[in-house]
Amino acid sequence: MMDNEQRPTLAGTDSPGSAAETEAAEPPDPPSSLSPRLFPPTVKERERGASFPQSERSRAFRRRFFPDAPSSLWNDWRWQLQHRIRDLAGLARVIRLSADERAAVARHTGPLPVGITPYYASLLSETDPDQPLRRTHIPVGGEYLRTEGEADDPLGEDHDSAVPGLVHRYPDRVLFLATGFCSTYCRYCTRSRMVGGGEYTFSHGQWERAIAYIEQHTEIRDVLLSGGDPLTIATEKLEWLLARLRTIRHVEFLRIGTKVPVVLPQRVTRDLTRMLRRYHPLWMSLHFTHPDELTPEVAESTARLADAGIPLGSQTVLLKGINDSVPVMRELMHGLLKLRVKPYYLYQCDPITGSAHFRTPVAKGLEIIEGLRGHTSGYAVPHFVIDAPGGGGKVPLVPNYVVESGEGRLLLRNYEGHIYSYPDA
Ligand code: SF4
Repeated sequence: MMDNEQRPTLAGTDSPGSAAETEAAEPPDPPSSLSPRLFPPTVKERERGASFPQSERSRAFRRRFFPDAPSSLWNDWRWQLQHRIRDLAGLARVIRLSADERAAVARHTGPLPVGITPYYASLLSETDPDQPLRRTHIPVGGEYLRTEGEADDPLGEDHDSAVPGLVHRYPDRVLFLATGFCSTYCRYCTRSRMVGGGEYTFSHGQWERAIAYIEQHTEIRDVLLSGGDPLTIATEKLEWLLARLRTIRHVEFLRIGTKVPVVLPQRVTRDLTRMLRRYHPLWMSLHFTHPDELTPEVAESTARLADAGIPLGSQTVLLKGINDSVPVMRELMHGLLKLRVKPYYLYQCDPITGSAHFRTPVAKGLEIIEGLRGHTSGYAVPHFVIDAPGGGGKVPLVPNYVVESGEGRLLLRNYEGHIYSYPDA
């Protein structure tokens, strides 16, 4: 069913990271208070521990479902990739599937296969099909329903591809699709048409053509590496790409969009961060969905990236029944700030084919922004945007705080609903 899934690297040219990147020591039991929601590890705690933290939850999961894997393997990102849960039998071993899930997984063909790292699987509810994280990673029948306005490529990325794998939509920046592989596959993925297999291919030659295009276009000052997930590429290959882009004088800075630090936090090895810090200014957008993702492991991966001087921003897709409430979103945004991740974008879910069961009304996003703005730190309030279908780019949406305008004044509504007059020049 999923035989056509791509390897975790450039097709035919690559292999996952070297053994030297593995941090294999058996970690001590984390202190019971080490909940990142309350208590991210201090610099000293992180420096003391050469190994990767393991929450009680993932430790119990490992012992139950992977009893032959010591922590040294569990903390090896390559082991995590090799032992991803990819089919019905693998899922049924760790989760009591509903009839809907079972039928949907059995029916799946093509890109966006099932793929879940053992670490991330440890965060899923064994019994509750409605648990938010479970809903984002296990297919259900709703995926196969096509509703009006949906499309396989709703953002028109293929149309804006300057060369294969390079989207040039905005004048001064490009989206560099470096790989079609992800360590886990999100069921609401905007690029579901191209990740995890299918007709899209990624190769070294494609990288070269994309780089040549960037070299020729001196207006490009910002390159965003995405995919697929660039942090699934072996460190030395990724370094080759970053170094190559860095030689282009008009490229002022690089960005990486990734979910790996959230779903495969063990990938953020010291070797990786040592390499990344050589290519500053380098920014990173991390894809978070729900506060249940804020584990000790993720506190560690984000701390390592932040300590490497990489400014971290978050991107979150608004999803029905998963994170579409002010309390859930507030908890997520507050948790991110404690991990030194600035909430950046809250996306209205794109109308990809089979996404109706994930999409909320736009009014829900505005309600959430209204519930955050003024009620908590401004840093905790992301930009709510719709990526305009057909390639229009991101359009920001804000609640209407201007009640009336004219005659040299604005009537403004504040977060408490009080009205204030401002003399408009
Ligand atoms: S990690 Fe990103 S690219 Fe991969 S499936 Fe999830 S949303 Fe899509």
